Amino acid sequence: MSVQALKKIKITEALNTNIWDVDSRPHITVDYEKCRKLCDKKICTLLCPAGCYTLSDDGILFSYEGCLECGTCRIVCPHEAVKWDYPLSGRGVQYRFG
Ligand code: SF4
Ligand code: SF4
Repeated sequence: MSVQALKKIKITEALNTNIWDVDSRPHITVDYEKCRKLCDKKICTLLCPAGCYTLSDDGILFSYEGCLECGTCRIVCPHEAVKWDYPLSGRGVQYRFG
């Protein structure tokens, strides 16, 4: 297929084509105690592409359901507060465009 034949789409459109079979068991757990006591920058809230981490009054809130399984949060967390694994038995995100 030539490059000209490929249809250009925005990243948000591509992400909207993904589907999730959400695992009932969270595949990521966060040590909120470390977040609250040790972490001043809370970089996960800036770098998670799915917006799973949000700031709260005394720390962060985390929601695993829309996770894209990129592993960024585990790598960037300076306090090893993120325990990250794959969802069980093929659950989680399914990409439609690679
Ligand atoms: S970067 Fe790590 S320690 Fe800091 S708020 Fe995020 S998960 Fe918690
Ligand atoms: S693995 Fe990626 S998408 Fe999932 S919570 Fe971490 S940074 Fe966000």
